[in-house]
Amino acid sequence: MPGAPGPKGLHIATFGCQMNQYDSARIAGLLAREGYAQMDQPQGADLIVINTCSVRERAEQKVYSYLGGLRRLKAENPGLLIGVGGCVAQQEGARLLKQVPHLDFVFGTGSLERLPQLVAEAQKGRRQAFTEPRPPDRPQALAPAPAPGLKAMLTVMRGCDNYCSYCVVPYVRGREQSRPVAEVLEEAHALVDAGVREITLLGQNVNSYCDPEDGRDFAGLLHLVAGIKDLWRIRFATSHPKDLGPALMEAMATEAKVMEQIHLPAQAGSNRILKAMGRGYSREDYLALAAELRRRVPGVALGGDFIVGFPGESEADFAQSLSLLDEVRYDFIYSFKYSDRPFTRASSLDGKLDEETKSRRLVTLQERQREIGRQMHRQLIGRVEEVLVEGPAQKGQGRLTGRSRAGRVVNFAGGPELVGRLVAVRVAEGKQSSLLGSLEQRERSEAS
Ligand code: SF4
Repeated sequence: MPGAPGPKGLHIATFGCQMNQYDSARIAGLLAREGYAQMDQPQGADLIVINTCSVRERAEQKVYSYLGGLRRLKAENPGLLIGVGGCVAQQEGARLLKQVPHLDFVFGTGSLERLPQLVAEAQKGRRQAFTEPRPPDRPQALAPAPAPGLKAMLTVMRGCDNYCSYCVVPYVRGREQSRPVAEVLEEAHALVDAGVREITLLGQNVNSYCDPEDGRDFAGLLHLVAGIKDLWRIRFATSHPKDLGPALMEAMATEAKVMEQIHLPAQAGSNRILKAMGRGYSREDYLALAAELRRRVPGVALGGDFIVGFPGESEADFAQSLSLLDEVRYDFIYSFKYSDRPFTRASSLDGKLDEETKSRRLVTLQERQREIGRQMHRQLIGRVEEVLVEGPAQKGQGRLTGRSRAGRVVNFAGGPELVGRLVAVRVAEGKQSSLLGSLEQRERSEAS
């Protein structure tokens, strides 16, 4: 007797930010209901979904190059279906189908829930792009991510109303839309019940969260999530400096489950450039915020984003970005060369810089930050850090890895029984991007 047909193979290629990773987990959940099981490689898959990012020109180019590489797989297996979702899909829509003949369907950032239907119609040979304008999906309508581990992400709001002059996000992700508190809590409870102990609350502009039903702000949401039994740790990203107020700092200072870490993009250090970017704060505002955070949340680790080579950025402007690094002393930064993005105001500005200047500035900025990161890590030698143990370290036999409360990677010698536990580790060595330490206490009391 023939056996039941096995699951169909699904490969998801994810580009871009944590929110795309979250959406990819939802895509996997949705398609699992249709009989698709995820596979790590595209070879042998029945369906390949590419979740794309168009925030930077380079990220978009990577998507096209990845798509080009799939042509051969499609030629070998004409039954293979290929779909593109995310920001490039939203931006390009049906043009993508014209440009990429081996593509079967396109779905925009607000059309995730239509995916099973698009796949079913693609199986019947119907090529289509679905990129309805906003509002975006109500994420609660989608299946939860399958098989969560120790840590999980949870999107609490989507979209952005800020329209920074260089950024495509408001055009491809739409206006801000927060999920009701009750839905967020329901999903958080489900994750914790499935074994998750650390949740990262996500939003393009997470700290402008506002419950559509009762107007509760992000600090209020944090207090509620912190009340969930058996959840040990809460992080959140990304925060806009102009929306960082005393209530959020207070929540960070008083809720033991909210980790001492914040990603607070500055983007530039020169007031002239910040104004041209439309960021809504000055260098002085930003420095005052960083100082206040450090005062109210001792030990807080700051992360930043910087763009180098914005149109019209002079050497003096760039020097101000370098000096901002020195003054703030970030734990880590993400840094990028400016690139023109569709729809944006900055793309029509004069004073574009050549690639060589942008590359030189990027290298200089990253070198400066590497040195600061090393110094910051060396200052931690001798301190005891609470670490949530995630698994074996990539390097060093018998070593485990985890993250401190401030989000730093900590490696130390220990047995597999410690995985999934909170332990105390004394820092012995500060490397550029991680800490090395020794186990001080096998089990920290886990918050209930
Ligand atoms: S805050 Fe600015 S940079 Fe961030 S997503 Fe919104 S528009 Fe883009």
